[in-house]
Amino acid sequence: MRRVLFVLVFGFSLSALPMLAFAQTDDAPTQPTDPTPVEFVPRYHTVAEGESLYFIATFYGVTQESMQIANNIADPTLLFVGQQLLIPAADGEIVPTNYAASFGEDIDIIAEKFGATPQEILRENHLLSPSSIVGGRPIRVFSRTGSSTPADAPGLPHVVQAGETLANIAARYGLTAAAIMQANDLQDGLSLYTGMRLRIPTFTEDDYADIPGLWQDVRFNNFPIRQGDTVALYIEYLEPGTPFGRMTSASGELIPLRFIPEGDGYTTLIGFDAFAQPGEWKLVVGGEGDARPWDLFETEFVVASAGFGTQYIPIADDVELRNTENTFLNTIFIDSNPEPYWTDVFRIPITGSVSAGYGDARSYDNGPIYAFHSGIDFRGNIGTPIYSPAEGIVVFADELGLRGNALIVDHGMGVMTGYYHLNSFDVAVGDTVEPLQQIATGGDTGLSTGPHLHWDLRVWGKAVHPTRWLERLFP
Ligand SMILES: [Zn+2]
Repeated sequence: MRRVLFVLVFGFSLSALPMLAFAQTDDAPTQPTDPTPVEFVPRYHTVAEGESLYFIATFYGVTQESMQIANNIADPTLLFVGQQLLIPAADGEIVPTNYAASFGEDIDIIAEKFGATPQEILRENHLLSPSSIVGGRPIRVFSRTGSSTPADAPGLPHVVQAGETLANIAARYGLTAAAIMQANDLQDGLSLYTGMRLRIPTFTEDDYADIPGLWQDVRFNNFPIRQGDTVALYIEYLEPGTPFGRMTSASGELIPLRFIPEGDGYTTLIGFDAFAQPGEWKLVVGGEGDARPWDLFETEFVVASAGFGTQYIPIADDVELRNTENTFLNTIFIDSNPEPYWTDVFRIPITGSVSAGYGDARSYDNGPIYAFHSGIDFRGNIGTPIYSPAEGIVVFADELGLRGNALIVDHGMGVMTGYYHLNSFDVAVGDTVEPLQQIATGGDTGLSTGPHLHWDLRVWGKAVHPTRWLERLFP
């Protein structure tokens, strides 16, 4: 499957300050002459028999020195046939950018993607060691590819087996030993050891991830992650088995992961609600292997604050009733069909304007804050038609104290949508529903300050921002 690009590169416009900072960068080979970053696809050149660096640089109209810097080449005479060289941008096309590293992207890979060097990335970010790079936390990179979009650093993982040499690994993949040494920063073939993970540079469309052991891939579909986001995690291991995993926040919030097969690996959806703790979270994935357990993979990533506000509701809440109702509904929310039913981007369930957005903390009758608005409120009249946003099965249609007449549709893979304060139901428990099929009419039942629809979307019980589901197809 073609996964959505994992990283998010922030748009960046040159202001006076970074220009000044740039001008003071000693080793910059060129000075920008045009403050507008020029976007173009990075060019590569594969070294052929008899070519020198000087010849290649002249062919592309760049300096030999800029070729050396872009490709981290200390000695220009040490080129080898088949070596892939990045052709650096011409004058004025160095692009400062912010980049959120993904899992398994070490500093060498990030540097390669932007034609930069590990040393300058560390220096720009005042980092003492490469291990200070945390997935999802933006770092500053001066791209030398002429583009703020990272280039691919493709490759396949290969775990060195006992008795293997650089020469026979290279032969197995149809590459030169030098090409493997270059991709792995090896000084010589003697530094190889059993169990070492090598990157085999190939022209696959998959990005290489420097993750341990037999892991082939561990990636989120969107980054950075904010409160209220739905995130898909894709994992792939080189041996068969059954995966498991969890995510934990610094304060101990725990999200168990429920994987289903997808392509050559497994995928799961994770919901971060509006009260998900901002800051560093930890991901652990492993698996029950058919032959032996999978290596545990642990990493940290950042969940950003979404900056939600506070809504003041002029009526009193019933905390005891709220807790009882939430506990009851949570038993429904986590009992989802493992496989998804939906096939497309979700459709908006009602024609009407929004009266209260998702995620704001709520104070009832000027009381303390202990809840956030779990969905979106739409204005409507009693009898306004309400439609299913996607394929699913009705799992609840009954009256509740707080939410009034409530309808819940299971869309599978942990995803459920809830419709509250309804006037009437057009479907019953067990019914299959289609996108835009009328399922209910709006009303003013339960704890409500006037006719409206409260719509929420749950991912394994976590109330997430429903609007994201109207904008893109998950996973
Ligand atoms: Zn509401």
